[in-house]
Amino acid sequence: MTTMTALNTDRPEPAPKKFPITTLAISFVVLVCMSLILVQVWVTWRAREVQLAETERATSNLARSVGQHAYDTIKGADTILVGLVERLEVDGMAESTLPRFHTLLVKRVEELPQLHGIFVYDQNGNWIVNSQPVLKKNANNSDREYFIYHRDHIDRDVHIGPPIKSKSTGEWIITVSRRFNKADGSFAGVVLATIQMTYFKKFYEQFDIGETGAIFVALSNGTILLRRPFEEKSLGRDISQLPLFRDYLPRAKVGTQTFTSGQDGITRINSYRQLDSYPLVVSAALSRNEVLDEWKSNAIIHAIGVACLVFGLAIIGSRLIRQITLRAQAEDELQKARSTLEQLNRTLEKLAMQDGLTGLANRRQFDIALKDEFSRAMRNASSLALIMIDVDCFKQYNDIYGHAAGDECLREISKVVAAGKHRPGDLSARYGGEEMAILLPGTDVAGAMKVAENIRQAIYHLELKHSGNATGVVTVSAGIDAFVPVRENNLPLELIEAADKALYYAKSQGRNCIRVGNGHLT
Ligand code: GH3
Ligand code: MG
Ligand code: MG
Repeated sequence: MTTMTALNTDRPEPAPKKFPITTLAISFVVLVCMSLILVQVWVTWRAREVQLAETERATSNLARSVGQHAYDTIKGADTILVGLVERLEVDGMAESTLPRFHTLLVKRVEELPQLHGIFVYDQNGNWIVNSQPVLKKNANNSDREYFIYHRDHIDRDVHIGPPIKSKSTGEWIITVSRRFNKADGSFAGVVLATIQMTYFKKFYEQFDIGETGAIFVALSNGTILLRRPFEEKSLGRDISQLPLFRDYLPRAKVGTQTFTSGQDGITRINSYRQLDSYPLVVSAALSRNEVLDEWKSNAIIHAIGVACLVFGLAIIGSRLIRQITLRAQAEDELQKARSTLEQLNRTLEKLAMQDGLTGLANRRQFDIALKDEFSRAMRNASSLALIMIDVDCFKQYNDIYGHAAGDECLREISKVVAAGKHRPGDLSARYGGEEMAILLPGTDVAGAMKVAENIRQAIYHLELKHSGNATGVVTVSAGIDAFVPVRENNLPLELIEAADKALYYAKSQGRNCIRVGNGHLT
C-alpha cells in the first residue's frame, strides 16, 4: 500500500487554468468595432480619391473641349485672313476693286458667327476696306498693338493680340491679324479679323463648373484673352508669374494640377493645355471644396451610421460580456465546490480505510486488499505471503503502564511495522487490538520471514520498557504463511488462518519469535 498521509497535509488540487473567455469576448467586440470603423474610413477615403480622380478627368475633358473650341474659332477667322493676304498681294488694292472687296468681307462675316468684323489697313494704319456696312473715312488704327506688331515684325505668321474694345462698336473683341507685303517684300498693311468675346462667353456658359470654377484662354506669354467668370478687369491681365505659367507649363504642355489661387485663396483642380497650332493656353478648373461637398455630406451620413452601429454593438457586446462573465464566475464557483467535494470525498475515503490510532490501513482496507491480491496471485500464479504480528503480554502492559501508554506503545510499534514493508504492493494494517498484519504480494515464505524478522528485531531494539514481559522490553511474536493460491481450491481465509495458527504457535513457543504456517519452523 501507499502509506496514508496525515489528514492535515491534504491540500486541494490547483484548479485547472481557465480559458480567458471574458477577455476573448471583449477582444472580439473591440475587434469588430475597430474593423467596422477602419473599413468605413477606408471606404470614405477611397470615395474621396475616386471623386477627385473623376474631377481630374472632367477638368481635363473640359480643357480639351475649350481648347478645341478656341482653335476652331480662330482657325475660321485665320483661313479668311490667309485668303485675303494672298489676294491683296497678288491683285493689289486698286480703288475700283474696293466695292467688290467690301461685299466679300460682309459676306464672310455673315457666314461665320464668331466674327465681329474683318478689316484691311494700309501701311500707315488707314482704313482701306472692312466688313462694316458704311466705310468710315479718315479713321486710323496705327496705334493698335497688332498694327505695330506687324509693321515691326517681318514674319508672316498669324498674330493674336490682347483683348481690346472695338473702336467701331465698343464691344470686347479678340484680334487675329496677318501682315501683307508689297511686291518688294516691304510692309504693305495688315488684315484683321475680330472675334466677339460674347461668342466665347456663350460657349463657356454651357458648362457646369460650380460657383467657384474657372475657365480661361490666355496667350502663351501669359496675357488673359478671356475668362469665365467674365470680369473686365481680368481681360488682358498678365498671369505669367502665377504657378500655371511659371511652374507647370514649362514642364508639360498638357497637365492637371491642384493648387491654391493667390487671388481668391480657393484650391482648384486645374487642367491646362498649350495649343499646338496657335500661341494659346487654355485652362479649366473646378473648386476642390465644391467637388468634395457631396462626398463630405455622404461621409458624414456614413460616419453617423457607423457610429450608431458601433454604439449598438458596444452595448450588446457589453451585455453579452457581462452574461459571459457571470456564467464564467458561476462555473468557477461550481468547479471550486466540486473540487472541495472531491477533496472531502477523498478524505472520507481515506478515513474509512485508515486506522485512527496507528495510521496503518484498517481492517476494512486489509480485507479488500487481501481479496484483490489473492485474486491477482491466482491469476499470476505467484506466491502471496501474510505476516500476523501480535504484541507479547500486552494486557499486562496496559495494566502496568496504563491504557494511554499502551496506545503510545502501539503507535511506536506500528511505525516499525509500516517501515518494514518495502515494495509498492505491500500493505501493513492493524488487524485488530494489538495485532497487525502485513500482506506481501509476490513473496514466498523465505522473503516474508526476512521482513518479519527485521520487524521483530527492530521492535526489540526499540527497548520499550515492559516489566511484565520476560525480556523486560516490549516484544512481538509473528506467524507467517505463504503459498500460490489455486482457483477453486483456496480461499483468502486460509491464508489468515494459517498465519494466525503460526502466530499462536509462536506464542506457545515462548513469544518474541516467528513461526511459519503448516508447522514449518525457521
Ligand atoms: P499474548 O502475549 O498472549 O498476546 O498476551 P496478551 O496479553 O497480549 O494477549 P491478550 O489478547 O490477552 O490481550 C490483548 C490486550 O491488548 C487486551 C487489550 O487491553 C489490549 N489492547 C487491545 N487493543 C488495544 C488498544 O487499542 N490500546 C491499548 N492500550 N490496549 C489494547
Ligand atoms: Mg492478541
Ligand atoms: Mg498479545
